[in-house]
Amino acid sequence: MKNILEFLNNGVVNGKYLNKIFSIIKKKKIALIAINCIDTNTINTVLEAARISRSLVFIQFSFSSSIFFIGKYYNLKTNIENKNLECAIKGAILAAKYVQEASVFYKVPVILHTDHCIKENLKWIDCILENNIDYFKSYGKCLFSSHMIDLSTCSIKDNIEICSDYLSKMSKYSIGLEIELGCTGGEEDGLDNTNISNEKLYTKPKDILYGYSKLINISKNFTIAASFGNTHGVYKPGNVKLNPKILLNAKNLIKKIFKKDCFLNFVFHGGSGTSNSIILESINYGVVKINLDTDIQWNYWLGVLKYYKKNKKNLCSQLGINNIKNSFNPNKKYYDPRNWLKYSKKYVFKYIFNIFNILKCINLI
Ligand SMILES: [Zn+2]
Repeated sequence: MKNILEFLNNGVVNGKYLNKIFSIIKKKKIALIAINCIDTNTINTVLEAARISRSLVFIQFSFSSSIFFIGKYYNLKTNIENKNLECAIKGAILAAKYVQEASVFYKVPVILHTDHCIKENLKWIDCILENNIDYFKSYGKCLFSSHMIDLSTCSIKDNIEICSDYLSKMSKYSIGLEIELGCTGGEEDGLDNTNISNEKLYTKPKDILYGYSKLINISKNFTIAASFGNTHGVYKPGNVKLNPKILLNAKNLIKKIFKKDCFLNFVFHGGSGTSNSIILESINYGVVKINLDTDIQWNYWLGVLKYYKKNKKNLCSQLGINNIKNSFNPNKKYYDPRNWLKYSKKYVFKYIFNIFNILKCINLI
């Protein structure tokens, strides 16, 4: 495939290009992969895999990953009212600044996004958007390409009303908005939907029509995470029942009402552990972004596990080899974090590289 996204510059992609990118990849029947990152090690791995595969990728930070990025300073006495919020704001902004510079260094364009922002945390996005104004004044570009607002616990009316306000606000800077309709099951990053009713896991096409018809009056720069049984995490086969036809039904309903083809772009949450046939079917129905988090976490850990098993005898003390008396050689090179984190990087890289190839998101840039 020739590089179909050659118009993109290296660095964080301006949100104004999102719809153009989505319409090009849809014609090629592919979707972009969105990787949840937590630190510079995961960011660097994604950038390297994107560079080598010539893939366009989403890098996304959740509320709690942003806290992890900056650290939570547990031990400092502080009077700050909401330490989580303060850390999440600072962490997201610093992570964005890091990705801005690192993606240029790695010579890849990257779509930078924030993941699920629930109603209680809207201040997080408000403060990022406030900081974005200053960043834009200084650098002529936005901190993030897009943000997700997840008001799946609200009524559909409140959800769309609040999201409409954000879409108006963000459109001034061409920042894209991802909304959630229906609920993603399972648990991820403190967002616990493990006990919600099964019905909520399958969004009603009429709700998608409602959201689409309100948002389209403001801007086209939005995507919808509509639920078709999606669940965060990896489960025993058969436990998660996906029905991507919901997306097709919603598109057909919109086509019927608007009397023309709709450009609707969907997001697939909880992509980890999903069969390729379901992923490809959902792409056919308009999915442009597939979120992967759990499989990244697993591979990050798998690297450490493999390293530990391979070097166990040198990893249980600073000096010597297990079970050998009078052995006092230093084990420094074995427990140096750079060496075992290198294994995490290797396994995450291999996973991302494979998924890019399986889903044909290679040679795009
Ligand atoms: Zn999600």
